[in-house]
Amino acid sequence: RCCCCGEQLDCVDIDDVETEKFALSVAGLALEREVKANFREFQDWLEKTADYEAIVDGANIGLYQQNFAEGGFSVLQLDAVIKEMYTRSGNKWPLVILHNKRVRALLENPSHRKLVEEWMANGVLYTTPHGSNDDWYWLYATVKLRCLLVTNDEMRDHIFELLGSSFFLKWKERHQVRYTFLKGALKLQMPPAYSIVIQESEKGSWHVPIVCESDEESLRSWLCITRPGGCEDEGKTGSTMETCEIVNGPCCKSSENRNNEKCDDKTTSMTGKRKERSP
Ligand SMILES: [Zn+2]
Repeated sequence: RCCCCGEQLDCVDIDDVETEKFALSVAGLALEREVKANFREFQDWLEKTADYEAIVDGANIGLYQQNFAEGGFSVLQLDAVIKEMYTRSGNKWPLVILHNKRVRALLENPSHRKLVEEWMANGVLYTTPHGSNDDWYWLYATVKLRCLLVTNDEMRDHIFELLGSSFFLKWKERHQVRYTFLKGALKLQMPPAYSIVIQESEKGSWHVPIVCESDEESLRSWLCITRPGGCEDEGKTGSTMETCEIVNGPCCKSSENRNNEKCDDKTTSMTGKRKERSP
């Protein structure tokens, strides 16, 4: 909710037909590059058994911040993500995609084996076959199941370039969960509750996301442009630009359009649509 005009920001839903088309194109590309029989087997398995609300990019999490001398693959980090996603989804296990050479190495290590076997027993693990690129597996699973994907991979790799950018970016914004470990404690960053696009609210105020360094939703700045008399808080209309920050919502720079034609015009030209102004 905007702290200036009190209006709710919108979440633009992704079209289901578009998503299915996207799933098909991911599968098509994967089948060209992966061993066909292996990827088909994964597709069939997913179709038959998979009921997951989140997919976890196992390698990305296990290798996060491990570039120090004793660093390796952190099963504890991966386990923290698994358990956190389990709790958040009301006790439903996520699906972890991990390459078989990695799984084999973990099972050979006596201090890791127990945990990995526990994942397997809970149906958490899908092991991708020898020679595979596991990126195709977690990407396809997430698109197909319309669920969340836990990874810090920004998906700018060459394989993602094949997917075209406009729909892919929208899709990523809605599905990617990023994470950090601060002194060993996991912190997840869920997809934003509302879309980071220029949008017009019901009562006709415009909200423009402002480019900022932080991906954190509560720290994101928005420009709020209200119509004369359109703002709930009369004290704020007609004021000069101001910034306010609120927790769990957009902070906004507010401006009243009569005093700030420049911003208003910019918004209009970017969206190409304009409502009649109230007199
Ligand atoms: Zn507003």
